[in-house]
Amino acid sequence: NFVSAVVPPGEIGVKFDDIGALEEVKRALNELVILPMQRPELFSHGNLLRPCKGLLLFGPPGTGKTLLAKALATEAGANFISITGSTLTSKWFGDAEKLTKALFSFASKLAPVIIFVDEVDSLLGARGGAFEHEATRRMRNEFMAAWDGLRSKDSQRILILGATNRPFDLDDAVIRRLPRRIYVDLPDAENRMKILRVILKRENLETGFQFDKLANETEGYSGSDLKNLCIAAAYRPVEELLEKETKGGERDIAPTLRPLTLDDFIHSK
Ligand code: ATP
Repeated sequence: NFVSAVVPPGEIGVKFDDIGALEEVKRALNELVILPMQRPELFSHGNLLRPCKGLLLFGPPGTGKTLLAKALATEAGANFISITGSTLTSKWFGDAEKLTKALFSFASKLAPVIIFVDEVDSLLGARGGAFEHEATRRMRNEFMAAWDGLRSKDSQRILILGATNRPFDLDDAVIRRLPRRIYVDLPDAENRMKILRVILKRENLETGFQFDKLANETEGYSGSDLKNLCIAAAYRPVEELLEKETKGGERDIAPTLRPLTLDDFIHSK
């Protein structure tokens, strides 16, 4: 129950193609994770090329870190285990040792596997001084011990992937265990356009829909903000239709919705 999801690679339902922009991040993940998981034989010679055992995605909320983690598992053909830092520490006081052991032994049976730790700062944040809950401290120490234990045996096929909006809250000991850190930034106009194209790929849009205008109108939006804006815009034709039905007193059995216009988006901001 402390694990919020265990998903086999074919069932995750997100691929790199479903993520707009973030090309540099995808390239880095390919080199650091996908290639070593798929071709471990290329990484067993010499000392320079070593598979990455721990990786941190950090950046503002809603920039696609969770989405990247899921797509990464799909692309690497790895099982995906997802846990949330705050759930682990708030719900599971007391049984730190048993829980972490169970998690890690479960993971080694599922290898290749990506263990995604969202809000990694709340599980493995900086040592909280006198006020830190004893259970939180124990959980963190157990987690790190189990993680170190993994390194020797199954390291090529188990990746701990942490995500956080607050990288500065992380403990030094954790930073050391996450030697690769990738910044997931807010998109600029060009990248917002790419994200919008992905989100709106299957939608009925007016001909000549001006993606560039919408991208320029959404300065400061994260991928998640863009998604929410698109959902709000998509409601407008539905609302219009319902309104028409109420006025006309009739309901079409197979109604057609009008295409979305740039205006729908601007009005939904
Ligand atoms: P948080 O830090 O708040 O947990 P996050 O960085 O993990 O956020 P996600 O949960 O991955 O962000 O993003 C939320 C939603 O926003 C995604 O499910 C997706 O619908 C949309 N989204 C975000 N970034 C992108 C993107 N680059 N391309 C397409 N959709 C995106």
